[in-house]
Parts: sequence; structure tokens; C-alpha cells
Amino acid sequence: MRHPGVLAAAADELRAAIAPERVSLDPDRLLPYGHDESELGDYPPELLVHALSAEDVRRVFAVARKHRLPVVPSSARSGKTGGILAVQGGIGLSLERMDRILEISVADSTARVQPGVVLARFQAEVEKVGLFYPPDPNSLDTCMLGGNIAENSGGPRCVKYGVTRDYVLGLEVVLPTGEILRTGRRTIKGVAGYDVTGLLVGSEGTLAVVTEITVKLLPRPRHVSTALVVFRDLEDAARAVARVLAAGVLPRCLELIDDVCVQACARAAPFHFPADAGAALLVETDGNDEEQVFAEIVRVAELVQGDATGEVIVAQNEAQRRDIWETRKFLSVNLKALHPYKLSEDIVVPRSRIPEMVRRAREIGKAHRLLVATYGHAGDGNLHCNVLYDRPDEKPRVDAAVGDILRAAVDMGGTITGEHGVGLAKRDFLEYEQGKELVALQRRLKAAFDPEGILNPGKIFPERS
Ligand SMILES: Cc1cc2nc3c(=O)[nH]c(=O)nc-3n(C[C@H](O)[C@H](O)[C@H](O)COP(=O)(O)OP(=O)(O)OC[C@H]3O[C@@H](n4cnc5c(N)ncnc54)[C@H](O)[C@@H]3O)c2cc1C
Repeated sequence: MRHPGVLAAAADELRAAIAPERVSLDPDRLLPYGHDESELGDYPPELLVHALSAEDVRRVFAVARKHRLPVVPSSARSGKTGGILAVQGGIGLSLERMDRILEISVADSTARVQPGVVLARFQAEVEKVGLFYPPDPNSLDTCMLGGNIAENSGGPRCVKYGVTRDYVLGLEVVLPTGEILRTGRRTIKGVAGYDVTGLLVGSEGTLAVVTEITVKLLPRPRHVSTALVVFRDLEDAARAVARVLAAGVLPRCLELIDDVCVQACARAAPFHFPADAGAALLVETDGNDEEQVFAEIVRVAELVQGDATGEVIVAQNEAQRRDIWETRKFLSVNLKALHPYKLSEDIVVPRSRIPEMVRRAREIGKAHRLLVATYGHAGDGNLHCNVLYDRPDEKPRVDAAVGDILRAAVDMGGTITGEHGVGLAKRDFLEYEQGKELVALQRRLKAAFDPEGILNPGKIFPERS
């Protein structure tokens, strides 16, 4: 327990160094900064600061080092692995008010943004000038670029366009030591030095605080075509995915929905699945030539027809396209209608092992007397296994099932997380995937950036026994 005098002194120094109205000790204001979307509980910081500049962040670190207080950065607090939880108390450092789009350069196909810019707003601004920023986590209406960088976020379009890291050219960051550094570059190409930018992307707010981001942009594809295909079972759907990719077609989305999800959707989704549907695929192609985009979705339809039950439904207009996507987007809500609680995992396995992994997750659920529903990005093997349950007191059983699912993914040559990060939720499984030596190397890297261990302690790495 920290002496209250320490916090009061730190708050006074921060008020003087930053601005009194952007520093708070008020428990009511701290509370919302104590939880995210991970369902791991409430861990509010003891003190909250809203930064407006890199200089503010530098000052926060100066006070934190002096009083040996942890600093926990946050953006929109939509994270799924507890990255913003102040598990050791300390200063909550919110970047959400750094919300300016500083520059969109059509000539250079780049943009410079602050970390508090909401992703959907950024994408809309970029698209107004004919450019495209592909990373598309489902939370895009709320999550912010700072959080996306920290988690290396992705979404359905990753199969064709890659993840956040593939678009980040350079960063302005503040290290816990107080150094303000510019990493990477402003140009599309460049290989000088170690890829420090690449290391910082996905570091989950444990190495540095990001205060500015330079990303590359693509030309906006002008046409998109969307189709929904229903299958008798998962094996048929997986075979169809393999057939499409082997034929050299690269859709921008290839979303898989298992039978539990299909049946959950059947209750409320705008699209009505047939009663015998055992799996479904949502496929989307894009490009600049309308005929070619349509020809590509027709080619997909031909390739999957043999495995599908019934017709391949190709959206004929924007309303139909929206209906198909709503079916996918509301899966999470529809599953909660089956059982009010769920824990959603984001494992990845080699594509060829998707049916085996879905079956295995189901068996694991059964062994723990729980239902598991799976959907995900079949194109890149990223599966959201949702463990469904009815009461909070079932959580220990749920956690045990999740542990078995994570280990099964690793045993199949996969990884414990494809998008949500490790955070607090999966830190006990990192060594299972990566081994002691690689985790030890990462601890040494952490110490090089943060020698006093004050930035977001307790995340990513398993606790030392
Ligand atoms: C409904 C829903 C759907 C989702 N779908 C997806 C999905 O499809 N794909 C996906 O990848 N994720 C998804 N997520 C998870 C989440 O939205 C992403 O991880 C997102 O990138 C987090 O952004 P945020 O702004 O909310 O970050 P926060 O939750 O505020 O922070 C996340 C992590 O980043 C660190 N951090 C935040 N800002 C900074 C900064 N400026 N500098 C350094 N570190 C920082 C924090 O310390 C924390 O560790 C979903 C979440 C929800 C609730």
C-alpha cells in the first residue's frame, strides 16, 4: 500500500508541471480508467493525467520516476486483454485527448496522426481524398490509433492487406527515461538500423508511450463485392477456403462462422440461414475495375459451389451487403442471447488445421461442461473461440477451458493471440508458446527501454515466482 502523501505530492507536482484541470485524484473520475473490455475486473489508477503533448508525457515520467509510481497508458479502453488495468496502481496516462489528424499527404501516400484519433474517423478522412487505411478491427468506431499501434490490431481485411504493423512507417515516442524519440521514417521504403518501429508496434504500452504516428496509405479500392456461402459442415467450408486460395484468388475477407454461431444468428440476423446450415463463409473481393471485382466473386462462387449447400448469395446492392455484414458483426450479441456471458479468444492456427482446432475447442468446452462457438478470419487462421456461460461463478471453469484452448492452438503450431495481444489475460501462456529463453530476451529488451520497470508493469510477461 502506497503512502497517501506520495500520491498527493505527485499530484501537486503534476498539476504544476502540466495543468491542474488535467490531473485528478478523484475516485469517481479514476473509475472508468480501471477497466477495459477484457472482463478481468476493475483496477483503477490512483491518479489520472490527460496528456496533450509528448512534453506532457515526459513530465509524467519525471514525476513517476521520482516517486517510483507505475505509469499505465490508455487510449479508448476497448482492449480485450487488460492492457490498461493499473494492476500495481500508479498513474493512469490517458492519450485520448491527443486526437488530431496532423496531415494526410496525397502526394506521399502517408498520414501523420495523434494517438487519440478514433480509427473510423481516420479511415473516413483518408477515404475522402481517395486513399485507404486497411486495418479494420471490429471496434473501429471506438478504438484509437494509439491502442491499435500498441496491440498491432487487425480485422477481416488482414488476409489481403496485413495488420497495423504493415502500415506504420514511423513513431514519435516517449521512453520512461524521459527521452523523446522519432523512430522509423516518413518514406514508403527504408531499411536503416534496427526496426525499432516494428518492435514498438505490438509492445502493448510496455516499452514507450506513442505520441505521434506516421502511416502509409494505399489507393482506395473503388469497388467491393460481397458473398455469403452456406455449408453442411465445417469441413466443407474449410475445403472451400483452401480451394479458393489455391486457385490464386485473394479475397479481401474470408470470414468463417461455425454451426453454433449460424444457429445463434438464425434467431435475429437480417440474413436467415437454412435450418440445416452447419457453417458459413463471408467472402469479399475488391479492386478498381468493377467488372473484374465481380468476375472475381463469380470465380469464388464457382470454386466453392461444389462444397456449398444451395446457392452462393452475392449481394446485389449496398443494402444486401450491409445485411450480410450485420450477420457477422452481430454474432457477438447473438451468442449472448444463447448464454449471457462469454469469453472470446483470438488464437491462430495454420489454415489447414482450422476444422481440427474448431473441433478440439468444442471438445475442450464439453470436458468443462461449457459450449464453445467459433467464428473468425479463415483466410489467416485467426479464430475467435467463444466460451459461453451463464453465471459469473462459472468463471474458474471458463478460465480452465480457455487455458486448454490456448495450449491446443500452440500444440497445433499456432499462437495464443492473433489480434488482442497478451496483456494481463494471457501472460501465463507466453512461455508455453515462445519458450523461456525468448521470453527472457524480451524481458532484457523491456529493461533497455524501461530500466526502472515503471511502464505498465505486470503485462505480457508471466510473474516471476
Ligand atoms: C467489440 C470489440 C471488437 C473488437 N474487435 C477487434 C478486432 O477485430 N481486432 C482487434 O485487433 N481488436 C479488436 N478489439 C480489441 C481492441 O479494440 C483493440 O485491441 C484496439 O486496438 C484497442 O484500442 P484502444 O484505443 O481501445 O486501446 P486501449 O484499450 O486503451 O489500450 C490497449 C493497450 O494499448 C496501450 N496503449 C494505448 N494507447 C497507447 C499509447 N499512446 N502509447 C503506448 N501504449 C498505448 C495500453 O496501455 C494497452 O496496453 C475489439 C474490442 C471490442 C470491444
